[in-house]
Amino acid sequence: MLDKIKRRFNWTNASVLTLLPIAAFLSVSFYIYYQGIHWMDVGILVSLYTLIGLAVTGGYHRYYAHRAYDCHPIVQLFFLTFGAAALENSVLCWASDHRRHHRYVDHDEDPYSITKGFFWAHMGWVFFDHHTSNDARFENAHDLKKDKLVPWQHKYYLPLAVLFGFGVPFLLGWAVGRPWGGLIWGGLIRQFLTHHTTFLINSAAHWFGKRPYSRQNTARDSWWLAIFSFGEGFHNFHHAFPSDYRNGIRWYHWDPTKWAIRSLSWIKLSWDLRKTPKQSIIQSIERAKSAAQSAIDRYTDPLQLQQRGEKT
Ligand SMILES: [Zn+2]
Ligand SMILES: [Zn+2]
Repeated sequence: MLDKIKRRFNWTNASVLTLLPIAAFLSVSFYIYYQGIHWMDVGILVSLYTLIGLAVTGGYHRYYAHRAYDCHPIVQLFFLTFGAAALENSVLCWASDHRRHHRYVDHDEDPYSITKGFFWAHMGWVFFDHHTSNDARFENAHDLKKDKLVPWQHKYYLPLAVLFGFGVPFLLGWAVGRPWGGLIWGGLIRQFLTHHTTFLINSAAHWFGKRPYSRQNTARDSWWLAIFSFGEGFHNFHHAFPSDYRNGIRWYHWDPTKWAIRSLSWIKLSWDLRKTPKQSIIQSIERAKSAAQSAIDRYTDPLQLQQRGEKT
């Protein structure tokens, strides 16, 4: 219940989320003015955006939060180091918040519930601490607390985030004679993009799009969101079947995370890929169709209720 959850304003998170984009756009403007744009700068941005994005979607999300497959410790190490570079907290915090999001979706206990508005779901919730103790926070993540590598990443999250989020791009830039270009494009601009494309899954993917698999919550499928979120835009399917390693299930669905996980399985670096039986998917489509035709649907769609100013 809302009144039982104590929220404290988190000045560190609020400062990072507001100052970082300002620093990124000011520095890139000066850098372009004096140095121009070099394809190497853009190359570093695209490569790191991809690696860090996949560490969040394939690692933080589908592996750690949902256990949708299993993978080799070397892959886990990649997820934990490059995932830290996303500046979205340790995987222990991220996954426990995310499991709470799935369990209580659209209700008060959902940390980024869209029923509190687009901005809250996008980034407003990050401005607050939602828990009084770590025990209360991680009660849904005992498996992660027992993991060999996850507590290590939690302990050294900040140095790992700085090293992989800003040190690596600086070094890559230095290797091609443009250290500041590497830092600004691969560190600051990349950070802005990483943050807001992840955030869009909590906001836009609960706001725009279709609900072909389930109409019991606000999660929606949108192909355009999938394009820059490495496949996470198929969010209605994901909420209906969260332990499936895929989010986009058709062969033409843009889901690079699914392709990366499958490719890893070919070289024995991932295994036990969990897939929802076809029959269950067909049944869920049928159920969603009849719910959509029913007049009752209007009254059970949490987003519509919120827009009409009613409580769920
Ligand atoms: Zn969601
Ligand atoms: Zn999820």
